[in-house]
Amino acid sequence: MFPKLLDALSWLTLQALPLRCLVCANPGNDGLDLCAACYAELPWNDHACPLCALPLPPDEPAKVCGGCLAEPPRQAGAAATFLYAPPIDRLVLRFKFHQDLAAGRLLSQLMLHAVPDFAEYPLLPMPLHGRRLRERGYDQARELARPLARELQLPLWTGLCRSRATLAQSTLDADARRQNLKGAFAVRATPPSRLTLVDDVMTTGATLDAGVRALRRSGLQEATLWVCARAP
Ligand SMILES: [Zn+2]
Ligand SMILES: [Zn+2]
Repeated sequence: MFPKLLDALSWLTLQALPLRCLVCANPGNDGLDLCAACYAELPWNDHACPLCALPLPPDEPAKVCGGCLAEPPRQAGAAATFLYAPPIDRLVLRFKFHQDLAAGRLLSQLMLHAVPDFAEYPLLPMPLHGRRLRERGYDQARELARPLARELQLPLWTGLCRSRATLAQSTLDADARRQNLKGAFAVRATPPSRLTLVDDVMTTGATLDAGVRALRRSGLQEATLWVCARAP
């Protein structure tokens, strides 16, 4: 009841405010808290490897990247709406660490401007550990995924959970990242055969991969990834 009430209040607050560009504070445009000039400068990631979403050199045709050819990833496809670059990086940080739900709403709306072809399966927001969730008060992947599910009329599936807290991946090297994630996820319901995992940022992809691995062990056949921003 209480979180629902807070949701409704923040929704009402957002509806009541005039649109305002969250980047430069000019009036918003086209139903977004973003002005037309800032929209035109967004770092869309529209030329990328279809398996890992890493950007490809602009002069190369769209194709699977060398890394994915050498070592095919567990997921069947990946899309990142943006590169993790200004102003998207700042909006993500405001959303993630500064309770700026308007930034989250804008990012989610923008993800709907480039819906990947594979977005026809249930969406799974990558879970936060319970303690982090309590500290922050909301789960950023779920805040992003909820409006996507609503607009695309896809179910949300939330049967994946963090079985233990992990260290922040950004503080670790590649080996330590893998160790850190061992047994980090538990699956508490039989997953559908196909799912699209949703998260805010994909860096090495190790966290998403650990989630996919746990789901595959529980019967998931095909996973695809849809993130807001890709950090190369
Ligand atoms: Zn602006
Ligand atoms: Zn790739």
